[in-house]
Amino acid sequence: MIDARTALVLFSGGQDSTACLAWALQRYARVETVGFDYGQRHRIELDCRLTVRQQLATQFTPWAPRLGDDHVLDVGLIGQLSDTALTAERAIELQANGLPNTFVPGRNLLFLGFAAALAYRRGASVLVGGMCETDFSGYPDCRDNTLKAMQLALSLGLDTPMTVETPLMWLTKADTWALTQSLGGDALTALIVEHTHTCYLGQRGQRHAWGHGCGTCPACELRARGHAQWRAGRQHTAEAS
Ligand code: ZN
Repeated sequence: MIDARTALVLFSGGQDSTACLAWALQRYARVETVGFDYGQRHRIELDCRLTVRQQLATQFTPWAPRLGDDHVLDVGLIGQLSDTALTAERAIELQANGLPNTFVPGRNLLFLGFAAALAYRRGASVLVGGMCETDFSGYPDCRDNTLKAMQLALSLGLDTPMTVETPLMWLTKADTWALTQSLGGDALTALIVEHTHTCYLGQRGQRHAWGHGCGTCPACELRARGHAQWRAGRQHTAEAS
């Protein structure tokens, strides 16, 4: 059963948002994507988005007709808010918390607000994001209750139902690999390994079993560990059966 609504996926070109995009393409009649350009140090992310979209459309025939327009919003002001030269007052405090000093408080709330305004104009009534509460980072704007409250605020503020879907909310990184495998089999897993981008340092670099990246930054480590756990789990299941 295909949901007739149009979904707008917050799509960065990383592993998580690609999983969300595949998840949405499996469910909704029409799926559009939105990316945010906030002067990322690594424009490589924005390039990966286009490659991933193109690969999904060419390799997965049932999904191709559902994949609609892509939008990139220039949100340079987010860059201003993460600029420690500008916002130094609490930067040191943030680092003491274990959060990076470039952390933008409530960033996902801003992104969802922008996405909802775009969705309204595009006739979309579902927002799909890769926010995850089981993630190590524990950003409060990624928590389930925050996003449920945001769904309510957006639906009231726009005076139209706006559903916020977060398919990864309770998944581990290993579960996310399992999810995409179940959605698109080996072809989707291979696509994610080869074309999605995760590395904080913006390195494509060496090709590891889990994809490209420096291999040592927190994002690479998280992705590698999730991939290894998923592979170990699969092997265990195969041996047991
Ligand atoms: Zn890295």
